[in-house]
Amino acid sequence: MSIDAEVLLDWFTEQARDLPWRRPEATAWHILMSEIMLQQTPVARVEPIWREWVARWPVPSAMAASSQAEVLRAWGKLGYPRRALRLHECARVLATEHGDVVPTDVDVLLSLPGIGAYTARAVACFAYGQRVPVVDTNVRRVVARAVHGREPGNPSSRDLAETEALLPTSVPRAAKFSAALMELGALVCTARNPDCARCPLPRCAWVDAGRPAAEVVRKVQKYEGTDRQARGRLLDVLREASGPVERVRLDLAWTRDPGQRARALDSLLVDGLIEQTEDGLFALAGEGA
Ligand code: SF4
Repeated sequence: MSIDAEVLLDWFTEQARDLPWRRPEATAWHILMSEIMLQQTPVARVEPIWREWVARWPVPSAMAASSQAEVLRAWGKLGYPRRALRLHECARVLATEHGDVVPTDVDVLLSLPGIGAYTARAVACFAYGQRVPVVDTNVRRVVARAVHGREPGNPSSRDLAETEALLPTSVPRAAKFSAALMELGALVCTARNPDCARCPLPRCAWVDAGRPAAEVVRKVQKYEGTDRQARGRLLDVLREASGPVERVRLDLAWTRDPGQRARALDSLLVDGLIEQTEDGLFALAGEGA
């Protein structure tokens, strides 16, 4: 089964959220920042931070001129802070090797630090209006259900080709179609409760097949008590401090399991998010010298 592009595009025109990174004044750099932030963080938490970043770092060279620690502090509690360090590195490469401009070509985008298959295509499509398949979890779910009549399985190398085959041939329509597919997955065809009564698609293979259950039931990752939460607590201490801190400050931030705390601290050092000074204090990346 295919997807009725006309119907989907009309629905998108009427129902799409008015997100600031979709407005005409958003540059490719602004869109790239939004895509990095949105990878693992919901829109409502991203939007205020993104607005701050656009005002503070309107072009890549502005971010490149800031320190890693400044970027990590500004990242706040968006989670998975390695993204902030990679974006800072990406800004430096854009400023020094690409004339402060985000490239248009997917292969060139893929060569940038922190830019993977999804982000490269999202930027090419949403910033430059290109006809490229953009596949995130929302798109995979809509395509799996509406076209193939099943819940999505694990990501596969076929996803890109299958999504590309659905794109309208007209370039501007194809770019809008990609945004519309993603929006349908985010607003209507959600993972747990697809609201089929509100769905604009006139036919859906999954509904026709009697809504078959997923073959693989995904476990929801818990956060409470995990190493990730411990890392977050330790990083909070350093973000809130004005300079390097003693080890005891970190020990007090996570008292429930010393072994877990040591693991979290090690992994933050290995990831380059924090560093140790010569006299044994701990600091955000770039602040330990
Ligand atoms: S009919 Fe339901 S399952 Fe099919 S695409 Fe629409 S929301 Fe998703």
